[in-house]
Amino acid sequence: MHTITFLGTSAGVPTRFRNVSALALQPENSKKWMLFDCGEATQHQIMKTSFSAYNLERIFITHLHGDHVYGLCGLLASKGMQRSESPLEIYGPKGLQEMLECVMQHSQLNLPFDLKIFEIDGKSSMRFGAMKIEVVELSHSITSYGFVISFDNMPGRFDARKAKEMNIPEGPLYARLKAGENITLSDGRTIKGSELVGPPRKGARIVIGGDNDNPLLFSPYAPFDLMIHEATYTQRDFERLEKKFRHTTAKQLAEAAQEMGVDWLILNHISPRYDKNGRVVELLEEAKRYFGGRVDIAYDFMKIEI
Ligand SMILES: [Zn+2]
Ligand SMILES: [Zn+2]
Repeated sequence: MHTITFLGTSAGVPTRFRNVSALALQPENSKKWMLFDCGEATQHQIMKTSFSAYNLERIFITHLHGDHVYGLCGLLASKGMQRSESPLEIYGPKGLQEMLECVMQHSQLNLPFDLKIFEIDGKSSMRFGAMKIEVVELSHSITSYGFVISFDNMPGRFDARKAKEMNIPEGPLYARLKAGENITLSDGRTIKGSELVGPPRKGARIVIGGDNDNPLLFSPYAPFDLMIHEATYTQRDFERLEKKFRHTTAKQLAEAAQEMGVDWLILNHISPRYDKNGRVVELLEEAKRYFGGRVDIAYDFMKIEI
């Protein structure tokens, strides 16, 4: 299973309960992990988990608003102070390179590791092993992107318990059976790998959205097993706002997810107003009225498997 850990789920400013945007993705069977967005103090959030800066392989930045990117320089500097030499790649919108280089130059930040910055656009698409990432241009007050992550199909699960019950000695034989080979044991029995390995598993397709006022922009890539997207306000609160910011409401997201065929919807980037008096439930209730699948509200350090 791939794991996703929410490191910051608040919109715009941190609250006592939520930090600003950041999310960790760790693919199945991988020590390495990836970070999506890096709001201020993300390094503090990381310290409260088992993730290390050493194993952080790539960072993806959805857009250059401070609540998504102001933690980057601190994170880089700390990794440098730890003398961590593992290379790091950062993918983000145009301007990211200049932004980082300016800070690094003026604060004399010399990193002991190889840092590569890649500026992306709405046509970018990357492949890392069994994972493909497609960049989708979104609709927000500045250039903002979302990521569609498609994992290749995975081999079926190996039933180690059944193998033990069949008195197959643990060790290299298990690896051969896992690979689907047939083996002959010293007692003469022949065991087929297919007896112990389940059917291939369909690779997950996940959306991680940046700030955006039009979630249907993801529809060319639908359907999705999991969609993580901002739902900054309820519809009612949004309509009462004097100045409209370009964000999505719970209702709007739920309707879009219903239309696109989403199995599991997670509302993220929550306005600080909902942290008071348990109001966050209003977002959940609104989303449930318009979306029939599984729906959750993200909270800091929530960990899910997919
Ligand atoms: Zn934001
Ligand atoms: Zn924004």
